[in-house]
Amino acid sequence: MDVTVENVVRTFGRTPALHGVSLNIESGELVALLGPSGSGKTTLLRILAGLDVPTFGRVLFDGEDALRLTVQQRNVGLVFQNYALFRHMNVVDNIGFGLRVRPWARRPSRKEIRNRALELLDLVQLSGLEKRYPSQLSGGQRQRVAFARALAIEPRVLLLDEPFGALDAKVRRDLRRWLLEIHNKTGHTTVFVTHDQEEALELADRVVVMSEGRIEQIGTPDEIYDAPNSPFVFSFIGESSVLPVQVEHGKVWLDGKPLDLAPGDVPDGSAQLFLRPHDVDVIDDEAGAISGEVKVLRRHAGLRRVDLDVGAERKRVEIELPADLNLNPARSIAFRPRRYRLYPISQALDS
Ligand code: ATP
Repeated sequence: MDVTVENVVRTFGRTPALHGVSLNIESGELVALLGPSGSGKTTLLRILAGLDVPTFGRVLFDGEDALRLTVQQRNVGLVFQNYALFRHMNVVDNIGFGLRVRPWARRPSRKEIRNRALELLDLVQLSGLEKRYPSQLSGGQRQRVAFARALAIEPRVLLLDEPFGALDAKVRRDLRRWLLEIHNKTGHTTVFVTHDQEEALELADRVVVMSEGRIEQIGTPDEIYDAPNSPFVFSFIGESSVLPVQVEHGKVWLDGKPLDLAPGDVPDGSAQLFLRPHDVDVIDDEAGAISGEVKVLRRHAGLRRVDLDVGAERKRVEIELPADLNLNPARSIAFRPRRYRLYPISQALDS
């Protein structure tokens, strides 16, 4: 099912939580709403679910005005961070709940409900645990039951709010892979909220980056990571360092020296150079390169992280180098960013 959000505004008292958000989600897409705390992700998800209403704007499900539909009529599958399973029901009854409470005319028989619940239990790879109660399951297992319960009603859209938020890092990683498999098998239009950029980039077909109630950028994980359209997206989506530079005469200048970097379409004037630790090459020749004094060396998995002080303002820049490169603190090294983004200072200040 297609979901369209048109110019949605939501204010709580005087606080605007969403400032005119527009978004189109295609049928079968897996979309992540990504942003820091308070950026409006949950408010948008709740509006899609019918648990909240916009102050202004429209929500369409397959072109139909969804705001006229109740939560039940919208037929959305919801999964929240804190499982929300019924403690007094075993697994199979939890999964079948949404079907058992349907009006009589649309309710499948008991046998059909049980069979559907067992099928879903198999899909979420928990066969054999049907008689357990939630307290007898691990956090990851409970969350998989919550998914099965959301899928049981054959939802038109699946809405997930930080579904793995309460789980430890390893279980989160496993469940991410698992969610992708389930999505590929079932093809439900899915919207999930996360503040974890790694999770969003790994799972989503498209990522919606939000900040302060606005959409900053919508794109595929590659577009968001490789071409962030603002300093906010660049720094939110991965590790980054920033250097103040000047763009003049078609060149990028740091402390009055030209760098071997292309300014692209950035206009003349002050700008900020954003780079990521792993996107640099250390070079011998300082001409056109950025040089800095080694301050701190740290082992970082298979590599070495180096903090450098760069330029007259002694800006701290973090770069990543092979672990076997021998470096001494206080030594000066030169590097060139392989990939970088330049933002005019006006845009940097806006973000
Ligand atoms: P988090 O990751 O912390 O859940 P979020 O991006 O989901 O954050 P929202 O929960 O949508 O953000 O909140 C957006 C803004 O709206 C915040 O400033 C929040 O304080 C405010 N807000 C949300 N719900 C209410 C409410 N019921 N009453 C008043 N303000 C609210």
